[in-house]
Amino acid sequence: MFINKIGIDLGTCNSVVFIPGKGPVLQEPTVVAVTLTENKILAVGQLAKEMIGRTPDTIRVYRPLKDGVIADYRVTQAMLKYFIDKVSGRIRFFKPELMIGVPAGITSTERRAVIEAGMTAGAKAVYVAKEPILAAIGAGIPINSCSGNMIVDIGGGTAEVAVIALGGIVTSHSVRIAGDELDLAISDFIKRKYNLAIGEQTAEEIKIKIGTALPEKEDRKLEIRGRDLILGLPKNIKISSNEVCEAISDTLTEIIQVIKQVLRDTPPELSADIMDKGMVLSGGGSLLRNISELIAQSTGVPCIIADDALLCVAKGTGVVLENLDLYKKSIMIKK
Ligand code: ADP
Ligand code: MG
Repeated sequence: MFINKIGIDLGTCNSVVFIPGKGPVLQEPTVVAVTLTENKILAVGQLAKEMIGRTPDTIRVYRPLKDGVIADYRVTQAMLKYFIDKVSGRIRFFKPELMIGVPAGITSTERRAVIEAGMTAGAKAVYVAKEPILAAIGAGIPINSCSGNMIVDIGGGTAEVAVIALGGIVTSHSVRIAGDELDLAISDFIKRKYNLAIGEQTAEEIKIKIGTALPEKEDRKLEIRGRDLILGLPKNIKISSNEVCEAISDTLTEIIQVIKQVLRDTPPELSADIMDKGMVLSGGGSLLRNISELIAQSTGVPCIIADDALLCVAKGTGVVLENLDLYKKSIMIKK
């Protein structure tokens, strides 16, 4: 089968590759492994993630997009090539068209770097669009209408909040506070309260399994393993969902401040639209239990979680690739 259109959501945590007509075909962590001496890329995606915590000091494994910007051109290109090769095979008769989602706050230099990386990786044409726009499209929002829509995408490294009307971003704000910061808040809390050091993966597991944005009547518990900071030995403790709620509350408040800021900066006509329809949440962070209730309570604006929240940006790339003409206002092109 020929694959001539490929959509890629390069997220700070996860990358998703979407083929129009087929759906999401690949979902892998945005991780690379590089040798320090020769500066060679050893592995990308799941394979690289499995190396975390197991590498000799000649290999470095890291998340190149952790801060929401594409810092290293060469690494970006290697990742794009890896994804293209993986979905369409190494031997191709046609070069595919590529649609890539980029953070709304990206500079024009960074944007050009992504486009160049895509061309070098073997694309016939590269289109880029801002993630909030793609997330909104993927969430089924009619972005070209003159009515205002608000999208809040909470990923791993960044939270992006945008108000969209007539196919473009009217107001937006992005912070480097999202899922990773929640994990950090949980491990800090456990360190302070129980003198227990836990790993990043454990903190994330706690968040996903029992995390909640609002205290719950039925307190759920989880047994976790860490290292006692005083004795230096392994130790198990039980942590409850309401403790996790306490641990992450300040971080959530910071994210909500950004949402409030965008609401304040939004022209009144559009605010009224948003008040009627509610804001839409996407990204992995929107799966945190009770987060939509907390945001609605704190802002007074109704809050809806998008279907397939983790896939909105990727779905958006697919929709745009199939309707380039309809969305031409929202994309940047290089052929
Ligand atoms: P990015 O676009 O930055 O790659 P994603 O949208 O893929 O990020 O979301 C990844 C983040 O979502 C991670 O921080 C992850 O821990 C978090 N996440 C995933 N599922 C859940 C869940 N059920 N509850 C809370 N957080 C979640
Ligand atoms: Mg994302």
